[in-house]
Amino acid sequence: MATIFTKIINGEIPSYKVAEDDKHYAFLDINPVAPGHTLVVPKKEVDYIFKLDDQELAELNIFAKRVAKAMEKAMPCKRIGVTVIGLEVPHAHIHLIPINQESDMYFNKGKLTLDPKDMADMAAAIAKEFK
Ligand code: AMP
Repeated sequence: MATIFTKIINGEIPSYKVAEDDKHYAFLDINPVAPGHTLVVPKKEVDYIFKLDDQELAELNIFAKRVAKAMEKAMPCKRIGVTVIGLEVPHAHIHLIPINQESDMYFNKGKLTLDPKDMADMAAAIAKEFK
């Protein structure tokens, strides 16, 4: 059965898309730990990031770097934090999180539910900067 991220990539489930190429898709996390929290996903359905081959893993990270550069421009922050968890959704993905302090990366502090208009505006702002 297709993962929820494959359904998002295929447009069967809505997402706040920020970037896409032929092999990758990036969209806002629906329950962010910080505003602008973005997920970067390979279109190929693989349940665990380290099951990607070297080329696929390199390309995913290079795409994530392009997304992070766009986020730096669109979101005021000191750094884009990077993490991989993958316990909830069995489709490889990288979390990119705008951070000003270490605690902005804490997943156990409770997630945010942001206004849909703010989510759409953030996604559009990042998408505009994506090169
Ligand atoms: P994990 O698999 O543990 O890395 O976590 C999966 C992440 O996907 C969580 O941060 C969720 O908030 C996020 N997520 C789950 N469903 C959706 C969705 N439909 N749209 C955007 N983000 C989602």
